[in-house]
Formats: sequence, C-alpha cells, structure tokens
Amino acid sequence: MRLLPQTNWHGWQGSRKRRSGVETKELKDCAADLWEAARMLHDGQVVGIPTETVYGLAADARNPQAVAQVFAAKGRPADNPLIVHIASMEQLTEIAAEVPPLAKRLAEQFWPGPLTMILPKQASIPEITSGGLDTVGIRMPSHPVARALIRLSGVPIAAPSANISGYPSPTTAAHVMRDMQGKIAAVVDGGPCTVGVESTVISLEGADSVRILRPGYVTKEMLESVAAHVSLDPAILHQLKEGQTVRSPGMKYKHYSPRAHVILADGSWKGFAALVEQRKTAHTYALVFDGEGETLSVPILTYGKNDQEQAQQIFSKLRELDDLGAQLVFVRAPSADGVGLAVYNRLIRAAGFEVIQV
Ligand code: AMP
Ligand code: MG
Repeated sequence: MRLLPQTNWHGWQGSRKRRSGVETKELKDCAADLWEAARMLHDGQVVGIPTETVYGLAADARNPQAVAQVFAAKGRPADNPLIVHIASMEQLTEIAAEVPPLAKRLAEQFWPGPLTMILPKQASIPEITSGGLDTVGIRMPSHPVARALIRLSGVPIAAPSANISGYPSPTTAAHVMRDMQGKIAAVVDGGPCTVGVESTVISLEGADSVRILRPGYVTKEMLESVAAHVSLDPAILHQLKEGQTVRSPGMKYKHYSPRAHVILADGSWKGFAALVEQRKTAHTYALVFDGEGETLSVPILTYGKNDQEQAQQIFSKLRELDDLGAQLVFVRAPSADGVGLAVYNRLIRAAGFEVIQV
C-alpha cells in the first residue's frame, strides 16, 4: 500500500535532474527539499537522512537495486541485514509476516523511538535487505525528518548508519558528507542527532520474553516494564569465538573504529592516568569525562558527564580524534548502566576488544 496514493510523481519530472554520480546534494529541513529527497527515495536513489539515533543511509526497502547501492556505498558485508524504518502501524503489517501481541505492546510503549524489533518478514522485503534471513529488523523513528520522508516517499525505508562500514557512525550531516560525498544522491541536514547511538535491537523469544541483541537508548530496565523477561545477548560485551553462532550478524564485525588505535581503560581515574603516562607514544590523546584530564601530559578531549551525554558525543569525538591526527587514544570507559551499556558496547568494538582494567 502506498501511503500517498494520490501523489503525482510525474508532476516532478520538470525539475528532475540526472545525478552525475559525483555530486551529493546538500538538502535542508524545508518542504521543497524534503519533497526532493522523498522523490529521490521513491525513484530508487540513496539519501542520507537524520534520525534521532544516528544518520541513516536510506533507500526503498522493497527495491533490491536501491538497497544494493546502500551496501556498495558503505562497503557493508552482504550478510549484515538492514533495519526497515516505517511511519505507521499499517506499514508494520506490510513488512512483518507476524506481529505477536508482545510486539504490539512494545510498539505501543516505545514507538516512535529508538527500538528495533526482529520479526518474520513478508515476501515484499527482498533478501538483499534482510541479509538473506527470513526475518527483518523494523523500527518507527521519532525524528520528524525521517518520518516526513517515509510518508512523502510512500515507501518503507531501509537505512543502516550512514558511515563507511566499520567507521564510527555519523551524528551530523557533515559526518555523512565526509563518508558519502560522491557516492549517494543527497544528504538531508536535520541537525545533530539527539540520542547519538544506534537503536536497541531486540528479538522476541516467546510470549513474554525479549533478548537484547544490541543495546541502545531503550534500556533493559525500560523493556522490563513491558516484557516479563529481558536478557542480554552475550555478544554485547564479549568477543565471539571462531564459528560461534551469532543472532545479530552486525555483532561479528569490527565496528565503530576510528583510524587511531583505541584502548579502553576501565577503572579508577588514578589507574587511568598512570596507564596513559606509562604507555603514551607520539600523537597520543585521552578521551575522558567532562571536568577530568587537566593533569595529564597528553592532549585530551571530553565526552560528557553522564550516560546520555556520552551517547550523544561518543561518535563525533572518535571522528574528531582522527581529524586531529591522533594515532593512539586512551578512552575512559563509561559505566555500563542505563544508556551507558550502549556506549560501552560501541567502545569495546572501537577498541577491537582491547580493554585494560586500571
Ligand atoms: P545498522 O544498520 O548499522 O544500525 O546495524 C543494524 C543492526 O541490526 C546490525 O547489527 C544487524 O545485524 C542487526 N539486524 C538487522 N536485521 C536483523 C535481523 N533480521 N536479525 C538479526 N539482526 C538484525
Ligand atoms: Mg552501523
């Protein structure tokens, strides 16, 4: 079902220009630009879009050629499925083959918002979108630009984070331009993302049980207000062994890593400072909490004073460290509570699981 069955796409033909393949248009959050981006999505092109979590690389989830361009632009492994973004509950039933009562309760509580549910997929979702799986990750974003684009384009939008595969996710339109200029049709600037880390990804494990595959802004405690049992997948905090089954394909790849060598140091400030002074080499930086670090002999960046600020800032600070030419970065590990678990999960991957207890 098209959300806007009356839309006259041919009315736009006059203003239509062929994309050269090198120029990525920078669009704004205004009606004319949103219509232009929606038309591009409808026509099977790829557009960088803001969501409340991170910027996404959006394409029509039902169009295999469009989705193939997303994988190509990111350099994303073909078995890592994309999340499909919707703007209404009617769209949910067009994409999921089954919507159990627990999924409905979770949607009622957390949508629109940063929660992705893995559900059996409809045949309308091609295998390229689901990474060859018979399930699909679905989320209803709350960001007004993302919602407008889904509605105006009339298509469900597949959108992974808009970074080059393996690099920190983008939380501003400038980050997207840095990674995607010349590879995609356009980027819509909707300002900096408010959440800053990707959605919580869950699978439903029974009538009243949920498993968190990737932590995000929607925490275990929040999910426990709806589901009786909520478990954390071991891959969230532990490195998978060779050949170990992975429930979420994204968990097995190196991820969120800047070019700099990142070491995560978990423990006291005293232990952190001693480690930095002992191990520092050329172009060494420290990424610490607000108000810390003045006594260190290496340059510092800070990333907030609580879990929400850390989530908002972590990816932009990792990117900034690359811009500064950092080669070695010691990061103060956040507390793994609340949204902090999501930040911790991203940082251990950015560090290639090099975590030192201090
Ligand atoms: P990103 O697109 O970068 O936000 O990553 C999406 C995450 O959701 C990855 O970790 C995927 O592995 C996970 N995901 C998406 N669809 C599925 C699915 N059908 N089953 C399991 N995990 C999924
Ligand atoms: Mg990603």
